[in-house]
Amino acid sequence: MKVLIADTAVETKQILGKMLTDEGYECCFVEEGGDVLGKVYSESPDVLFLSVNATGGRCFGVLKKLKSAPSTVDMPVILISAGRAQKRLSKGYLLGAYDYICRPYFKEEVIARLKNITYIRNKTRELEFAMDRDCLTGLYNRGFFMDRLVEELSWSLSYGEPLSLMMLDIDFFKKINDTYGHRCGDEVLAKIAKIVLSTVRRNDIAGRYGGEEFIVMMSNTSSGTAAAVGERARQAVQDAELLCDGSPLSSVTISIGVATFETGDPAPEALIRQADRALYMAKEGGRNRVCVHMDGSRPDA
Ligand code: GH3
Ligand code: MG
Ligand code: MG
Repeated sequence: MKVLIADTAVETKQILGKMLTDEGYECCFVEEGGDVLGKVYSESPDVLFLSVNATGGRCFGVLKKLKSAPSTVDMPVILISAGRAQKRLSKGYLLGAYDYICRPYFKEEVIARLKNITYIRNKTRELEFAMDRDCLTGLYNRGFFMDRLVEELSWSLSYGEPLSLMMLDIDFFKKINDTYGHRCGDEVLAKIAKIVLSTVRRNDIAGRYGGEEFIVMMSNTSSGTAAAVGERARQAVQDAELLCDGSPLSSVTISIGVATFETGDPAPEALIRQADRALYMAKEGGRNRVCVHMDGSRPDA
C-alpha cells in the first residue's frame, strides 16, 4: 500500500516515514507547500497524510480540490497537526478529511488509524462494486446501465457524436434450461456474458438487461461500427465451446438488435425501444443474426 506524506517538517518525514516503511507501507513525500495535487496524480497513493500546520489555507485548498474530483474524492486523507488545533481540524473534517494524527507519533496508534481507514475504504469499494453489478454475470446491472445511458446520451447530444445501443438475447434459452437444467443454464448465461464482454471494446458498457438479455452501450459509435461489433459478438458466441459439468453442449447462438442515436431527443427509452425492435427483427428473421434499426421498421406484432 502506498502512502503520500505532504509535510515539510524533517521530523515528520523521518519518524512517520520510518514507522510506515517498517510496517511495509511504501512511502513517498512532497513538501506541504509544494505541488501536492500533482504528486497525488503522479503517485496515485492509497492514503494521503496532509499537514494542516502553518499553511492551513493551502491544505484546505488541496482538500477541496481532492474532494471535488471524481478520481480522488474517495482517497482517504489523514491530517498531520502539531497539536489538537480544534478549529483547523474541524474545518479539515468538514472538507472531507477522515482522521488526524499529532506529535508525538505513536506507532501503534498511527498504524491502527491507517488500518481502520483502509478497512472502511475497501468495504466501501466492495459495496459500490456490488451495487452496480449483476451477481451472476458480473456485468453492470440495469439500474447502473440506465443511469450511465442518460449521461452518455446527453454527452452525445452536446458533442454531436453518435451513440449506439446493442440488445442481445440468447436464442432458445428456455430449451437449454429444459434440457440441461437451470444450474447449467446459469453457467451458460455467465459464459456468454463473458464472451460478449471480451468482444466489445474497452470503453463500451455492457449490462444485463433482463433474464437472458444483455445490453451494450457504445459511445462515439456509428450504426455501421456497432453492427460490426455485434457481428463479432454473434460469431464468438456461435464458435464458443460451452460446457456443462465438463460435457460439451450443442451450439448456442444469440440474436442482436442495434439502434443508434444521432440527433434529436436523447430519450433512453426511445433508443431502447428501437434496439428492441431490431432484436425482434433478428428473431423473426431466423435468429443468430444482427439487425440494425432503420426508421420505419416495425415489428409485425
Ligand atoms: P428466444 O429465442 O425467442 O429468445 O427464445 P428463449 O427460449 O430464449 O426465450 P424465452 O423468453 O421463451 O425464455 C427465456 C428463458 O430464460 C426463460 C427463463 O426461465 C430463462 N431465464 C431467465 N433468467 C434466467 C437465469 O438467471 N438463469 C436461468 N438458468 N434461466 C433464466
Ligand atoms: Mg428474452
Ligand atoms: Mg431468448
